[in-house]
Parts: sequence; structure tokens; C-alpha cells
Amino acid sequence: MSTSYIQVTPIKESKIATVNFEKLDFGVVFSDYMFECDYKDGKWQDPVIKPYGPITLDPSARVFHYGQAVFEGMKAYKDDNDEIFLFRPDENFDRINKSAERLAMPAFDEKFFFDGLTKLLNLDKDWIKKGFGNSLYIRPFVIATQPAISASPASEYKFMIILSPAQSYYGGDVRVLFAEEFSRSASGGIGFAKAAGNYAAQFYPTSLANKEGYQQIIFTDASTHEYLEEAGTMNIFFRVGDKLITTPTNDRILDGITRKSVIQLAEDNGIAVEIRQVSVTEIKEAAKNGELKEIFGSGTAAVINPIIGFSHGGEKFELEKLENSYASLFKEKLMNIQYNKSEDKHGWRVKI
Ligand SMILES: *Cc1c(COP(=O)(O)O)cnc(C)c1O
Repeated sequence: MSTSYIQVTPIKESKIATVNFEKLDFGVVFSDYMFECDYKDGKWQDPVIKPYGPITLDPSARVFHYGQAVFEGMKAYKDDNDEIFLFRPDENFDRINKSAERLAMPAFDEKFFFDGLTKLLNLDKDWIKKGFGNSLYIRPFVIATQPAISASPASEYKFMIILSPAQSYYGGDVRVLFAEEFSRSASGGIGFAKAAGNYAAQFYPTSLANKEGYQQIIFTDASTHEYLEEAGTMNIFFRVGDKLITTPTNDRILDGITRKSVIQLAEDNGIAVEIRQVSVTEIKEAAKNGELKEIFGSGTAAVINPIIGFSHGGEKFELEKLENSYASLFKEKLMNIQYNKSEDKHGWRVKI
């Protein structure tokens, strides 16, 4: 497969020597190169790779006014032999186009996506550090660039991929609020899309929760606030007894790749999974009678993020730390596949 049609503007000097890979805040440092491709005259054209840096847009570009912007989050991993792997990248490609469609944006080109990503990762391969937990976070995104502030879909867009080195992510002890007032999405809306506006909309309620000592919110359904849906950037699982419960995805909930991988691994390991609505009442009851063993979030950034406490209606609950948690089991199994340390019977790992 030739990617020579993607023009590369070389960097003058790599920034890599200035980066402390032992002490990385998530998403702050970016690699040497970025991928860029514009949509105009009805098609994606002239994909290029150039030194990472600012881009210039007209102030009337529609992304600034109407939020036509979607993104993805994925990671590249290196094994002990310096081979580079992605995890289920086809799912990310499909999803960014589903997100784009909902925001009336054009689908991106599959060949440009994979050729661009492969070439970019090869140029920046020194930014992918070996070692369990180290990765290069990949952020593809699309924005409406057409300079015209009429409230309708743009006719010009920019697709980009930027890369940020990441360390094993430990968010500290996570306690959550179950949402009683705010919502992140509604039926018929854009909750299933990785659309920029979904995240802007949750910063305010999350900052209120932070002030009360909760790191995140588990959002509930917008009409009754009685059913638990998902956190701001993670899908949510509950372990009641030995059973795992998670809500079905729908147009309000993002169809997480980590979520579907956890469900598959649970099935592979003989752990019963119920995919059904989960009520706040049921989880509070289970917490009171000791049946609620774990709550954890799933997402590319943290893989699995255990939640040790929650609050709802002024009642606070703390979960006991478990020796053999499902959270640590799934995290280890997923990471072993991602880092080429175990068999990959579902073919999730893709070598670059
Ligand atoms: C990205 C995201 C997730 C997790 O999806 P993964 O594919 O597992 O990374 C879950 N919920 C929301 C709202 C997200 O944006």
C-alpha cells in the first residue's frame, strides 16, 4: 500500500528531546507532525502531513458559530519489539462518520483516513513509548471551515489528526454524582455522536459537581432522571452480586468501543452481563443491601476507571475496595490485547 501521494512537509528539528515522558499531563504535549485534509467542491482532497502547529481560519468559519465539529479518540501502542498496534480502529473510522452524518457533515474518505494515520504514526513513531500503560493518544477531528455565518451546513471542512503522548492514566479516587437536574443528551438529539457541543454542555454541571467533591457525573435520562445512562466521556457498568449490568446504547448514549469490548470479554470469561436499563432506585437499593460490588467507567483514555462512591438525593454511598475486582480484570485483559501480550481471538489488534 503506497502512501506516497500524501505530501509531507518535513520538520526542521524534532521537539521530542524537550518532552519529559515520565511526567505527562493528558493531552497537553503534541508530537512533531499532524495530518490535514480539506473538503471543498464536494470532495476531500490533497491530504498532507506537516509540522504540528497553529492553523488559520476565517473568523466567520462556521465551526466557531454553530459548533459543526466532531472528533474521535484512539491510541497507538508499542510492544516490546517496537511493533506498533491500534485497537479496533475500524470502529473509530465508522463512528466519526456516524457523528459527522448527524451534524450534516460529509463522511471522510476511508483510504485517506488509514493511509494518513499510518504515515503519520510512522513519522512520529518515536513518540510512542514502550512500556505497559504508555501510548500515543490519537485525536482525529473534523471542523466546518467555510467562511459564512448563515445557520446551515457548511460546504467546506477540515479533517485533521493530531497526536499526544500519554502515560498510564490514573484519575485518583473517583466519586460521582447521579444527575438529578442536568442532562447531557435527549432522545432525538446528538448524545450518540462525539460532537464537540456535547462536551461543552457538560462542563458547567461537572464544575458544580467538582465543587461538591465529585469528579464526574453519571448522567440520567433527560425525561425522568430515573435511569442511569453514562458519564461525560465514559460508559458505565454496575456489578451487582456477580452480574454485570450496563444500559443499552441508543441515540442518547455513545456506543463506546471499550464498552463493547468489555461486554465481549465478560462473555468470554463466563461473567453474566445484562444489557438493560438501570434505575437509580435499583442501584441505591443494591448499595444499601450490600449487593452493589462495583461501579466502573470504560473509555479509551483510562481504559477502565473504578468509581468508589456516589451520591444521589443527598444520600452518599461508598463502595468497599475489592481484591479481585472486575474492573482490574477487564483492564488487564484489554491492555494485554492492546500491548500484544496475549492472544487476540477477536482480531481487535491491528498492526501498523
Ligand atoms: C468517547 C466516549 C466514550 C468511550 O468510548 P470509547 O470508544 O470506549 O473510547 C463514552 N462516552 C462518551 C460520551 C464518549 O465521548
